[in-house]
Amino acid sequence: HDAIAVEDFRPKFLAKSSMARKAADAAIGATRKALVEMGRKHGRAVHLVNPAHTTMDCARCGARAKHALLLSERTYTCTACGAVSPRDKNSPSVMLVRAGLTPAGAEGVRPSGALLQGAA
Ligand SMILES: [Zn+2]
Repeated sequence: HDAIAVEDFRPKFLAKSSMARKAADAAIGATRKALVEMGRKHGRAVHLVNPAHTTMDCARCGARAKHALLLSERTYTCTACGAVSPRDKNSPSVMLVRAGLTPAGAEGVRPSGALLQGAA
């Protein structure tokens, strides 16, 4: 990877007590910091990405679904453009796009000029 996108993630739902919350925040902060430093050291860009709605946004057209997918729903279907992709693939693509990267080989967002290829 030449660039890394990281969810700027604060798991509020994990924290039942303030101690647990502090521990979780510290662990996540340390992980993120280590990752950012690693990226710097190796000359790679690390992008912090707002994780909100990555499971609801369409990686192809950017439309946002009205409802989040249930965990049991493994497939993301866009009501706007009809794109269908496994949710495990759609969300990372949304994050990459949000980080300003064009995911090479990812379906949906392509550099201009390749738009007609693969469009069904
Ligand atoms: Zn769409």
